[in-house]
This record gives sequence, structure tokens and C-alpha cells, in this order.
Amino acid sequence: MRMVDIIRKKRDGLTLSADEINFVITGVTSTRIPDYQTSALLMAIVLNGMTDQETADLTAAMANSGEVLSWNDPFNIIDKHSTGGVGDKTSLIVVPILMACGRQVCKMSGRGLGHTGGTLDKLESIPGITVNLSSEQLQAQTLQLGGALAGQSQSLAPADGILYALRDVTGTVESTPLIVSSILSKKLAGGAGNLIFDVKVGDGAFMPTLAEARTLADALIRIAKHHGKRVHALLTDMDQPLGKMAGNSLEVIEVVELLNPATASGADTRLFTLSLALATNALMLAEGISEEAATARVQSVLETGAAFDAFNSVIAAQGGDTRVLDDTSRFPSAPVIKHVTAKHSGYITRIPARAIGDCVVRLGGGRAVKTDAIDHRVGIETHVHVGDSVTAGDVLFTVHAAVDAAARDAEHFLTNIIVISDVPTDVPAIVFEMRS
Ligand code: URA
Repeated sequence: MRMVDIIRKKRDGLTLSADEINFVITGVTSTRIPDYQTSALLMAIVLNGMTDQETADLTAAMANSGEVLSWNDPFNIIDKHSTGGVGDKTSLIVVPILMACGRQVCKMSGRGLGHTGGTLDKLESIPGITVNLSSEQLQAQTLQLGGALAGQSQSLAPADGILYALRDVTGTVESTPLIVSSILSKKLAGGAGNLIFDVKVGDGAFMPTLAEARTLADALIRIAKHHGKRVHALLTDMDQPLGKMAGNSLEVIEVVELLNPATASGADTRLFTLSLALATNALMLAEGISEEAATARVQSVLETGAAFDAFNSVIAAQGGDTRVLDDTSRFPSAPVIKHVTAKHSGYITRIPARAIGDCVVRLGGGRAVKTDAIDHRVGIETHVHVGDSVTAGDVLFTVHAAVDAAARDAEHFLTNIIVISDVPTDVPAIVFEMRS
């Protein structure tokens, strides 16, 4: 086989065979195929698409490019994936809820890049914690404790790492088959039988419109089912930040507020509703029970504190200092706190999630490039939601900054991006729909 013939075939809109796709992925992983040929093929896929069979074959080839975790009963294992956003700390909530419900969750997470945050960076605001578990440690902890919150091992789906880096610089990220195979190859390599997807929609999301998010969710579902997985996908709002906090330690503090029964009544309703929906759907999948039964179980482990205990146990198992979870004032805090107030009365019409994420990056809480160091203490607390009415002088945001100049810059930025209008605005739903 020759790569140039495969490129020509896809250029002409023809369908690639499984053998051809395997040839490409083996050559990409071994670096035998040069980047310029891989890039040409990626562009041909962007322009001409792939059939479901091709996408499924590509997903399998990428998953098999590295280690694939094997479980005695994959249908005992749950994995959750979010397409990413601002203030999205649901993995830190859903994993312990499911652990407390007696399920096993093998969750491998990523780091933040650009305006979106990453679960690993949030976790690393907990003193002492390690997120670098070997595959053996990850599997052992999942089986013994019920869950792990770890980084993705480099040996899982290495072809995706190579392809994603090329896609990023060749304008070939935006393609449903490439996105689906990228996401699902990592899920196939993780080996869980039950997959729950949170596909974000809106300004701060990868997919800005409901129609695009639906297309992605449906493709994820079809290809996951093709590979024998049980799968639910929720389409959820990312037009405003999720929850009150955006920024690493601030988000962990918010997770503790929600999980700890002593403080849960103050938790953000949208964050609570989404976490409950994700955990409920995962339980429905794993146990084949009704939504009512699953919801009752999830609510019960939150009310009894069993989910908070599970969170403590996973943090302790990974070396984290759980004293900060008992008393969140022990988290190192940002030295400068600045409140941003409403300049006039009205209704909150827009709190653009992407801009809030960008503002966290400007404060030092995120990365512009992969090698940037981050400040775990900084971030933005948003006190209002779209649809709220406010009076001039009300506090809209609290900025947590490292230095005065950064706080002033954030105040200026936030004042300009929030939209307060004279006309009431509908309160948007947090969960738009569930697809399966
Ligand atoms: N997330 C992934 O893991 N891959 C993509 O291609 C897009 C989003």
C-alpha cells in the first residue's frame, strides 16, 4: 500500500477500507508516514467526510495504536467525558457520587488549554496530590476504591496525540469523524463498557449551536454502539460559565461545597442539576434502572455524605492533603480580591463563557500554550446568572488575582463583557436533552 494512493482515494470522495485505515494509523504511530502526507489526508477527510464504518475503523485503529486497558467485566466500569468548557468541575462531583453508589469509575482527564479548564489542573490545587498514575495503579485503585482521578497515560491511543497536534496547526480540527475518532479512541483504550458524554453547547463550547452539538452527540453514540458500548449523551449549556467559580482551587472549593452535606444548600443550582443528571444517567446505563430509581440513589449518597467521603478517599489515595477539604480556608488564596459591580440596573442577558475563561487565563489561572505554568489560586467568582435582575451597585463578580494590576485589568474586562439590558431575559435550561 502507498499513502499517496490513500490520499488520492479520499480526495476523490471514495471510501477507505479497514486495511487502508490501519496502514495509515500504524504508519503515523511509527512516524514512517511524514507529517505532510498525514496532513493532506486529514484535510481530505475534513472536506469529504467519512462513513460510519470508516469512522469506526479509524477509532479502533487509533485505540489499538497503544495500550488498551482490559477489565474482567467492562460493563461494571463507567467512564465520563465532557467536551469541555468554563467552570466545568462535574467530573470531580460525578466520580465520587458514582463511587458512593457502589459503581467503579475509571476517569482519565486532561489539562486546560485556551479558555477551557482541565480537571487535572483543578486537582493539582490540592497539596500533595498526584494525578500521574500508571495504568496498573489506575486499574487497581478503580477496582479497590471504586474510582480514580488521573491523567491520561501517554501509552493510551498515542496516534491521537500525533494526529491532534497536526490537526491543531493544519486547520483540520473541525470534522465530525476526526473529533469522534479522537474522543472515542481514548474511551475504547480506557476499556469501560458504560460511557456518559456531556456535549457542551454555546459560546464557551467546542460546538456553538444545538444542531452541531446534536450531530456530534449522535455520531459519538452510533460509533460507541458500533464498538459494543452502552452510551448516553447529554447536551448541556455552555453559553455562560458553569457554577459560581472559574479557576482551579476555587472550583475545588465549589465541589466541596456541593458534596459536603453541611454546605450543600448553598451550592449553585445549575451545577447541582447537571451533576445530578450526569450521575443519574451513568447509573441508569450501568444498572439498567429507571431514572427515578437512579435519581433517588444519587440524591441519597449526597444527603448522607457518602459521596463526600468517597471524594475524600480518592484524594487521600492519590496522596492529597484532605485537611483542605475539611476546611477549605486552608487552600492557598489569591492575595488580591476585587469586587466588580453592576453599573446600572436591569436584567443579565449575557455572561459570555469564553470571555470568562479567557479572563481566568489572563489572571494566570490557565494556559495559552501547553508549557505555561499556572497559578492555582486565581480565578473569577460569578454571582449572577443569565435571567437574573440586578440593581446598580450589586456585586456581579469577585476577582481573585495575584497582583493589583491583574485585578484591575480583569475588572475592566468583566465590566465590558457582561450584558445588562432593560428587557427581561428567559432563564436558559442547563440540560437541553438526553440522547441515546
Ligand atoms: N476533544 C478531543 O479529544 N479530540 C478532538 O478532536 C476534539 C475534542
